[in-house]
Amino acid sequence: MVPSDRAYQKCINPSCGAEFDCAQVLFKCPRCGDPLDVRYNWDKIKLPQKLGDFAKRWVTRGSQLDFSGVWRFRELLDFCDDRYKVSVGEGQTLLQQNGALAKELGMNPASLFLQYEGLNPSGSFKDNGMTAAFSHAKMVGAVASACASTGNTSASMALYAHSCGLKATVFIGEGKIAFGKLSQSMDYGAHTIRVAGDFDDCMRQVQDVCTELNIYLVNSLNPFRLEGQKTIMLRIIEALGWQVPDWIIVPGGNLGNSSSFGKVFAELKEIGLIDRVPRLAVINAHGANTLTELVNDKGLKWNGGKVNDTIADDYFAHLDATGYRPDTIASAIEISRPVNLKKCLRALEVCNGVVLDVTDEEILDAKAQVGKYGLGCEPASAATIAGLKYLLANGTVDKDARVACILTGHLLKDPNATVNYHSKMAREFSNPPVQVENDLQKIIALMK
Ligand SMILES: *Cc1c(COP(=O)(O)O)cnc(C)c1O
Ligand SMILES: [Zn+2]
Repeated sequence: MVPSDRAYQKCINPSCGAEFDCAQVLFKCPRCGDPLDVRYNWDKIKLPQKLGDFAKRWVTRGSQLDFSGVWRFRELLDFCDDRYKVSVGEGQTLLQQNGALAKELGMNPASLFLQYEGLNPSGSFKDNGMTAAFSHAKMVGAVASACASTGNTSASMALYAHSCGLKATVFIGEGKIAFGKLSQSMDYGAHTIRVAGDFDDCMRQVQDVCTELNIYLVNSLNPFRLEGQKTIMLRIIEALGWQVPDWIIVPGGNLGNSSSFGKVFAELKEIGLIDRVPRLAVINAHGANTLTELVNDKGLKWNGGKVNDTIADDYFAHLDATGYRPDTIASAIEISRPVNLKKCLRALEVCNGVVLDVTDEEILDAKAQVGKYGLGCEPASAATIAGLKYLLANGTVDKDARVACILTGHLLKDPNATVNYHSKMAREFSNPPVQVENDLQKIIALMK
């Protein structure tokens, strides 16, 4: 493989700035330990004049790469040759304008949009990233892949590994894992290892295992994965007639999505394909709110790249000392040591972003509202709507602002959470089944 003149890897820490070829498999900067970015020599890439030019690929969607909701934007993630690219039809997702839910939230009915990433082949947004990571894996000749997962990463990895002939090993912890997700990785043939620890423990183990055994790691500290996730924003812009919304709202777990969103907006601005960057809101679950605590309470910020590392180090030392374990029904974001923390801080700076946390009850109420008025989603995804309620109430988001909420995972990923809410919790939107005797008149009486 010839080193590309179009893309390279670069440490995100401006005072280090070490650069590496895309042929190298690295999870962090070997010099300073900070995360790596994929960067582009834009003058070597044949970019469209305007974003709308990508629409020409709708006509040629018979070709696999033009059909893909990731690769039809390939000039904006041009790190590997087409012959290495892997696709299973990811990114056929939908931006639904939801007037009924908007009204219920007291918004202008024309201004709320739900981005249904649950419509991806494995049922979550992770496929956007996995298609890119596995394309890079093919490019470097990897034969085995692994990840730590709260469920959706493993489902997606297993699907892609299977489709391109790599081995796949999943590390799951003893924390919550939704059955829909676990069932997928078993069905897609991944080797599943259950570690006696939580997600954060698995995350640490898998990094060492991959280094030791030369296995390709597909967690979101893989910078190539995040390149694929940028296209979620491109598809939102596409669905809005090539316009940028005012707000993007996304749940925050390992903070890969929020990081990649900030990155793509910075890039689009730099190359002149947009003239305005939307604002970003990242929503934590209250039981896994590291980002909220660090940003809102301890004042941690990107600060042009001069991050005050001791703030985060002290916080994590405190979590260790107290034996803290994150705990939320939104298992996909039950993470207290987000690996993309620094990249997310940068995204918050690029997008003038805000951060907040919401309780499990608020998440489940919002999830039932999405289900009632839309296509439904899993708990973590509904954190976006729960967060939006706060942002409307405190005036941060205007009721006429155009808001896109990222519904990261499919409703059927976690049926237990849904059934439990409706049949046991007796909350505002609970919709339990009603018992009746096996008697026609009594049944009819109930229907009136
Ligand atoms: C992985 C995941 C998240 C968290 O995304 P990050 O990029 O890790 O912040 C949120 N929702 C769902 C459904 C997920 O699968
Ligand atoms: Zn570095």
